[in-house]
Amino acid sequence: MQIRTKTTIGVVAIGVITAIVGIVNKNKFVHVNEMPKSNIHVVILSGHGSIQDGKYQTQGKQSPTWEDGLKIYEGYSCKLLALDLSKKLNENHIDNTIINNYNTDLSLIDRANKINELFKVNKKIVGISLHHNAQPTNNADYTDFEGLKGFTSTSTGGATGIEVFTSVGKTESDNIADNYILPAMKRNMPNLHFRNNGKAKEQNFYILSKTKSPHILIEWLFMTTYTDCLIIADDYYRGAYVNSIVEGYILYNKSLN
Ligand SMILES: [Zn+2]
Repeated sequence: MQIRTKTTIGVVAIGVITAIVGIVNKNKFVHVNEMPKSNIHVVILSGHGSIQDGKYQTQGKQSPTWEDGLKIYEGYSCKLLALDLSKKLNENHIDNTIINNYNTDLSLIDRANKINELFKVNKKIVGISLHHNAQPTNNADYTDFEGLKGFTSTSTGGATGIEVFTSVGKTESDNIADNYILPAMKRNMPNLHFRNNGKAKEQNFYILSKTKSPHILIEWLFMTTYTDCLIIADDYYRGAYVNSIVEGYILYNKSLN
């Protein structure tokens, strides 16, 4: 993945966010008695397989290679986000597990079964799936050397923005998404477009309907739109996105004290 610059601004801005939210507190290396207890256990699912033996492990689920060489593999990008999320949750004493640590893909059935197995013995489990979005590309204005299509910007028909989903019906996932994760994302990424109408959308996605623990699924920007891909690959925005999720879980965890 091509990572864009803005490093200095990014570091400064992430520093500000961290200061406001209190992410990464000072008591990282102290006796466990001095550490806050985690009321939740976050299970993290990064959407799709990553890259192994020089090969992307999932069919589709990628951007075209754009004119400047930028290309997003959804599984690879989301794996990096998942690892960053896990590290930051650990630093903030929020228990967590990455479900698919392996770089190969895990079927939806296996993903849900694994989470349900854990939930049997740990009722603190709350799940999160990380994905990037895509739209039909029949009318796209760009085709790469492999025939993969995309939109160069929103003005040529490219979709943009963030979607957050929870399972159908009123569940704890609505509370987590609507009162913690979505507001934190809006605070930390105010200039990005939110496709949710204030609240998380409900969908019968397999992972949402088959997991017994509360689960949310985030589609963070469109791989089929070049201008969204620039943001997906941007260190500042990747940090702000992960920090938003961490911030949301810190506040949700506190609400359960
Ligand atoms: Zn996906």
